[in-house]
Amino acid sequence: MDTHHHHPENDEQYLGLSVNSGVDRPPSVNPYLSRRPRRKPVPTPGELVEGILKGDITSLSRAVTLVESLAPDHYAIAQEVIEKCLPHSGNSRRIGITGVPGAGKSTSIDVFGLEVLRRTGGKLAVLAIDPSSERTKGSILGDKTRMEKLSTHPGAFIRPSPSAGSLGGVARKTRETIVLCEAAGYNNIFVETVGVGQSETAVHSMVDFFLLIQLAGTGDELQGIKRGIMEMADGIIINKADGDNIGPAQLAQAQFRSALHLFPPTASGWQPEVLTYSGYYELGITEVWDMIDRYFAFVKANGYFERKRQEQSRWWMYETIDEQLRKHFYENPDVEALLARNEDDVLANRRSSFAAASEVLNFYFKKR
Ligand code: GDP
Repeated sequence: MDTHHHHPENDEQYLGLSVNSGVDRPPSVNPYLSRRPRRKPVPTPGELVEGILKGDITSLSRAVTLVESLAPDHYAIAQEVIEKCLPHSGNSRRIGITGVPGAGKSTSIDVFGLEVLRRTGGKLAVLAIDPSSERTKGSILGDKTRMEKLSTHPGAFIRPSPSAGSLGGVARKTRETIVLCEAAGYNNIFVETVGVGQSETAVHSMVDFFLLIQLAGTGDELQGIKRGIMEMADGIIINKADGDNIGPAQLAQAQFRSALHLFPPTASGWQPEVLTYSGYYELGITEVWDMIDRYFAFVKANGYFERKRQEQSRWWMYETIDEQLRKHFYENPDVEALLARNEDDVLANRRSSFAAASEVLNFYFKKR
């Protein structure tokens, strides 16, 4: 049976869907809206600096966005702002905080932040360095939602990591952001990073105190990869020392203490301390900050504080030169082509590595 026949819309006489001429369809876009500029104009460096020095968060955020931008004209503005802020920077405690995913960084930073604000009565900026392209275990470092208490505190400025890029690039942006935050009156700076890779070295190059969050009983406390990180630590704090975990945390504390004795003395003369605490239950927080206060008193008295900052500034100068030179060399199209050819020759054993390198370098330097 042909069922179609029974549908009225298949009847030739059916007019239900015929189109009548109607009114004009109104534009889907509000015509008045397009007359307005779509983006706020980029403020001048002078305006930004003025706002930053007044502690205006909007100016600070916009300047940080310019620092993070990949656009060359933004970069130029950002550099001008940084130069003008530099004389107003430096008056802060810069603290690096690292730990593997799940160690409790965000939970801890939330309570440490409140503690530091309570103690200093000042302001706190929480920044992050996370050069990994995929966010570590789904957590975005410096994500506001992970720091519930701090994120609603008027004295806290929280900024997630600049988006993925080379570690050097991401770290440089964070360092420049520190300058801007300090100029805006943030006298406490936290730099968060994941304790699994190379980023600790970068963080170490921009903070005064390096805090390593560890867990008990993961079996990898003293493993090789963390040795380098352990050697950088001015304080090792073992988190989640609560409930049944207090015993294991104390055991880990003893192990870390004896492991630290095997390390050469630190350049600061400070003996790194090992403490247990619970970020979640807020136990032992005062002791952690007493330790940090002790450290700052110690290195300010023996001159190491200033010396380290100077060394860091010098390190960053050469780091920036290295980065720019490398970029200039490798991004030259002629060099790229020549490199590709020479690499083939080297892989095919037609040329020695050194002859190949010399040819490319000679070509590059003669071009100058
Ligand atoms: P992050 O990845 O290092 O930032 O770690 P989180 O702060 O997100 O914490 C990871 C998990 O450990 C979360 O489920 C927290 O609730 C839990 N946690 C954090 N600190 C403590 C603590 O002091 N004690 C206990 N028992 N759990 C904690």
